[in-house]
Amino acid sequence: MTGFMPVIYPDELIYSWFCRYYVHSGYPNNRMALEDILYNRHNNPSKEFLGHLNPEMEQVIKSIYPIDELILEHTMFPQYARFIECPKKKDALYRLGHDFCDAHLLFTILPRGEGDKYLKYCPVCASEDREQYGEAYWHRKHQIRNMDLCIKHRCKLINSKITATSSQTFTLNPAETVIKEEEAVYIANSLKLKFASYMEQVIEAPMDLENDISIGTILFYGMEGTKYMSSTGKTRNTQTLADDMQRYYREISLNEVASMYQIQRTLLGNRSDFSVVCQIAFYLGISIDNLLHPSLPEELILKREGNRGSKEETPEDWNQYDEEMAPILEKVACDIYHGNISDTGRPERVSERLIYKFAGIPNHRLGNMPKCREILSRYKETYAQNWARKLVWAYQKLKNENRDKPVFWCNIRELLGVKKKNADVITPFLEQYADKSTADAIKSLLNL
Ligand SMILES: [Zn+2]
Repeated sequence: MTGFMPVIYPDELIYSWFCRYYVHSGYPNNRMALEDILYNRHNNPSKEFLGHLNPEMEQVIKSIYPIDELILEHTMFPQYARFIECPKKKDALYRLGHDFCDAHLLFTILPRGEGDKYLKYCPVCASEDREQYGEAYWHRKHQIRNMDLCIKHRCKLINSKITATSSQTFTLNPAETVIKEEEAVYIANSLKLKFASYMEQVIEAPMDLENDISIGTILFYGMEGTKYMSSTGKTRNTQTLADDMQRYYREISLNEVASMYQIQRTLLGNRSDFSVVCQIAFYLGISIDNLLHPSLPEELILKREGNRGSKEETPEDWNQYDEEMAPILEKVACDIYHGNISDTGRPERVSERLIYKFAGIPNHRLGNMPKCREILSRYKETYAQNWARKLVWAYQKLKNENRDKPVFWCNIRELLGVKKKNADVITPFLEQYADKSTADAIKSLLNL
């Protein structure tokens, strides 16, 4: 290691810190800086987290800052892990900082929407940082998903050209060189500002590693007394809640408005996506304190978690259960088929196994659910068809990303992990999913 670690700035992403290390230490190129930082350039480098550090860098960093503090205050950890179960949260924190585990293995990281594809910045923050520190840097809170404004300056965030994902070619792009001087566009919508400020406060609040009341239970009691729950507390009107929420958030032009399916999964306690939880909690008027440090009487928690358990065992009315699950299943099947469920966007075959996993239905239930089975049958495809579809997807993705550069077989293999040996079974299906020239291009990559 030839460089010197600078001081990390308030709310700076670790990735940004590494970018500045690269510049300040005068490395001739990215590759050499990355070799000094990472254990292996191909081993989960990360813009949102820490990545796999090499032993020397690990020692240097751990001698300057406590590693947990770095992860809690300078990575996107609070966004992804804030609402997961307590033991999982503790384990994830440990494994990120000590085993340098890939974050994808520790909690759910959903694919990004259009508004979150690139690192974002506030032009006013950048010029203030230049004045105060002599350089701009990447702020963590600007990278929160669905965040499109700077609370401090009440202005719109700008998308840089630097991708926010860590895959493909990982490079260090210092904010100072990327961010140009730009006029700020100010925002007057007070509701929009209020919701953004809510998300920011939730990110910045100290992480509670002891409270183990599940987010499903917290939101359940947050619905009490609203029109979305009957006075007995037995039935919830999720559809109306979802409709009202969607109208509300579309009006403040939020980028990714939670779908009925996401809201339902979250209320049932099967999902804990940061943005969805914040949208539900803010809409229901749950204070940040009640969301993060709820003080629910023990008997209520037991009753709730107990109820859920027995209700989940076997549905009382299979027809009603089938009916209720159908819209969820439809969405899940569509997401699996089109690749919205995977981080890379890779389309998958809609199997029962994936349905059980992502729709949160206990195994073997579909046998009793004719409506849901009918939905599945519409997505039916053979393995060969699915592989043909994946090949077309990978080819088009690479073509779009690399613009004019040619696509090589090794790039496709890296994306799909597919071997050429079954090519003759797959190729007859290519033209079902692509025009002739694309199909031919893929065939020639397969040497056919
Ligand atoms: Zn700002």
